[in-house]
Amino acid sequence: MRYLERTGPWQQLISLKPRVATIEEISLVHTKQYISEVKALASKGGGQLDLDTIVSSDSYDVALYAAGGTIQAVDAVMDGSLDSVFALVRPPGHHASTGGGMGFCLFNNVAIAVTHILHKYKLERIVIVDFDVHHGNGTQDVFYTNPGVLYVSTHQSPHYPGTGRVDQIGEGEARGTTVNIPLPSGCGDEEYNQVFEQIIVPAIRSFDPKIIVVSAGYDGHWSDGLAGMQLSITGFAQITGIIKQLADELCDGRLVFSLEGGYNLTALSASVRATFEVLLGKEDIEDKLGQLPLEVKVPNITGLMQLIKGIHGIH
Ligand SMILES: [Zn+2]
Repeated sequence: MRYLERTGPWQQLISLKPRVATIEEISLVHTKQYISEVKALASKGGGQLDLDTIVSSDSYDVALYAAGGTIQAVDAVMDGSLDSVFALVRPPGHHASTGGGMGFCLFNNVAIAVTHILHKYKLERIVIVDFDVHHGNGTQDVFYTNPGVLYVSTHQSPHYPGTGRVDQIGEGEARGTTVNIPLPSGCGDEEYNQVFEQIIVPAIRSFDPKIIVVSAGYDGHWSDGLAGMQLSITGFAQITGIIKQLADELCDGRLVFSLEGGYNLTALSASVRATFEVLLGKEDIEDKLGQLPLEVKVPNITGLMQLIKGIHGIH
C-alpha cells in the first residue's frame, strides 16, 4: 500500500475500509469446530495449524477482516457501486478447506465470498480464476460438486500442495467445472499467455459467468523464492488484461481480485500496482524488474495443452 501511495495509482482509487466477516459468513465454507479451533489457538497466544501455518494472537481477528474485506469487495461490485475491486488482504485463503487451514491460509476468503454471492444474489454462474503459483486445493474442494462455479487454476507441478491434476475436473453434475492446468517449472510470460488464450479464455466464454473472482497470487514471479516460474510484472499485467477483457465482454465488467501469495515484496508490490494500472485502463505498464536475468530453458507445454483441451472439449 505504501508503494501504491508513493508511485500511484493510489490517488485514482477508492479505498474501502474492511469489516470483519461474521461467524455465519465464515461458516458458509468452514465448520464451526474449525472456526472455534482457530479462535482458541489465537486467544491462548498462538500456535501452529501445520508446519508452515502459524497463528499469532491477532491472526483470528485479522483473518476475519480478510474474509470480510473480500465479501465487501464482491458486494460493492454486485450492487454496482464499483466496477472492480481488489481485496488487498492477508492471510491468503485458497489452501484452506472446510475443516482446516494449511499453507499460510486460515479462512478461504475467495470461497467464502463466492458462496456469499451464491446465497445472497442467487447467481447461477461464477468463475474463479486462480493464477497463484500453487494449486488452490481448498477452493477446488469447496466447489468440486457445484456446477454453478467454474474453478480454473494455473499452478506449478510437481509442487506444493500436490493436488490439481489435469484429471481432477469436478464430480457429478459439476464434471468439467474444475479446470486444472499444472505447469512444469520454468514457464514464463509466453507460456502463461498461450495457456490463457488457448484454454482459459475459451473455457470461461463457454461457461458464460455473471462475475469473475480472481485468486491473485504473485508467487509465480521469477524473483519469488517459493517457486520456480519465470513470470514478470509484464506477464501479470498481460494476465490481468485478458481477465479484464473477459469480464467486460461477459459480465458487464464485474471483477473482483483477492490477494493470495507473493513473497518477494518488491515484485509483489510492483505486480499489484501493474494489476491496478491495467484495471484503470493504462496500456504502457512499467516493469522495473524486467525478465529473469539468466538464460533458462523454457519447457515445451504443447502436449500438455493438447491433453487439457481434449479433456475439456476445447477446440
Ligand atoms: Zn502460492
